[in-house]
Formats: sequence, structure tokens, C-alpha cells
Amino acid sequence: MAEWSLEEDCGPEGARGPQPGLLRRSLRALSDMVMPPVCLVCRTRIEAHDALCARCWRDIDFIRPPLCDRLGLPLPFDTGGTMISAAAAADPPPFARARAVAAHTGSMRTLVHALKFHDRQDARRLLGKWLVEAGRELLVDSEVVVPVPLARGRLLARRFNQSAILSREVARLAKLSFEPLLLERTRATASQVGLSRGERQRNVRGAFAVPTRLAARAKGRNILLIDDVITTGSTVGACARALIRAGAGRVDVLALALVTDQAPIPG
Ligand SMILES: [Zn+2]
Repeated sequence: MAEWSLEEDCGPEGARGPQPGLLRRSLRALSDMVMPPVCLVCRTRIEAHDALCARCWRDIDFIRPPLCDRLGLPLPFDTGGTMISAAAAADPPPFARARAVAAHTGSMRTLVHALKFHDRQDARRLLGKWLVEAGRELLVDSEVVVPVPLARGRLLARRFNQSAILSREVARLAKLSFEPLLLERTRATASQVGLSRGERQRNVRGAFAVPTRLAARAKGRNILLIDDVITTGSTVGACARALIRAGAGRVDVLALALVTDQAPIPG
């Protein structure tokens, strides 16, 4: 995967947009003087905006094929065709397919944490590009992009929903509908941090629903559900169930990071 930069990011939109290239380059030169480009992870100076330094780049464990088609887990061998991991075969998830950009380690873990807790929206463009790349085969089949909703209390404390920010960016890049309110929390849930798999599943079971007033927007639609991290798959599983209950067609899941040291299981 090539290093993404603002130059590339401006490509499709900038080329067709009304803003001439010369003006855009001048504005960028001006902004570089005011805010020189820095690595999104370690903040050292680099050549281009919206990128990582070589060291932080090498520290990202990108998830590459061969993958389990259902859970998106890396598999050791490519046996050809569509492959399913033993975990997915034993306990099929409620969603059709999950994909993630990278393992939840190193620089990706830092980026996810920064997005979640420090309002680091400057990483949005790069992360959106990565998501579109990792979710290429899901996006082809998707019509609507929906974020995993935050609990109300957490939304207020944190002021924004990082999954909604990522979803909006993916919808913009892939030219799909963005439905930030299609899923809502129906009850408060404890933080999933530190819980076992079983506890996580119980914690989020039935905690999501499609509001009745928006049910028509879910019915029969192929939905791409977006979260920042998939740990055990409990949360995205509960969300997928709620969407399917509301009549959604296919539900796929796309995340920045996947905890790969334990097999995600449906929740
Ligand atoms: Zn760096």
C-alpha cells in the first residue's frame, strides 16, 4: 500500500472541482508555512500533510490477504477461492463480512486512541483512505454507511463520535449515503474494556435499534457498518442484528483496527 498524502487525496475531487490547481497549490504552500506537515503519530516534521513518517509507517501491521471472508482475520495459507476460518465456521457472525485496516498494535493503536480521546480529526483523511482501501470489496456491495453509535453520556463527554467521523469520510470517498442516526443505543451499556468475551456479548445484547421513524431507510438496504476497533465482534454483531431486525439486506463491517490475538466472535 502506498503512502497516502494530501496530494493524492485532492486528486479526484480537486481535479473535477472548480478550484484551479494553481490556487490550490498556493493555498497549500501558504498552509505549509503556517502549519508544517508532521507525522500524524509522532509529530516529527515530514514532507507531506496527512501522512506518517517512515518509522511510524513501518510500525503499522496492515492486514493483507489471505483472509477469512467472514471475520477478516488473516489466514496462514491461500487455498484459493473464498476462505472461512474455523472460528467463523463454528459460530457464524450476524454480519456478512468484516474487514479491518490493520492489527490493533503499534502506530494504529496510537492513531485510534488519538482519534477517540484527543479529538485528533487531522488523521481523518488518511484513515478514510485506508478504510476505503481495506473495504474495497465491501464498498462495491454497499449502499449506506452507518457508524456504531456512542452512548449518550460518552458522546457528551467526548463531544463527538469517532466512528461517525470515519463513516462520513468513507461515505464521501465512496459516494455512498451516510446515515449517522440509523442506529441508536436503546440502553446504557458498561464500557467493554476489561470484559471477557461472554461479558461483552451480554453487555451489548439488544442494546441497539433502528429508530421506528428511520426504519424505511434500513429496509432492504445493503449497509456498511463502521467502528474504530473490532475486539471480539460483540458490538458490531449486536449492531448488525439490530439492522437485520429492521429489514436491512446485507450488513458488512469495516474497522480501522482488529484485535487479532483472539478470534472475533459474533455478539
Ligand atoms: Zn512518526
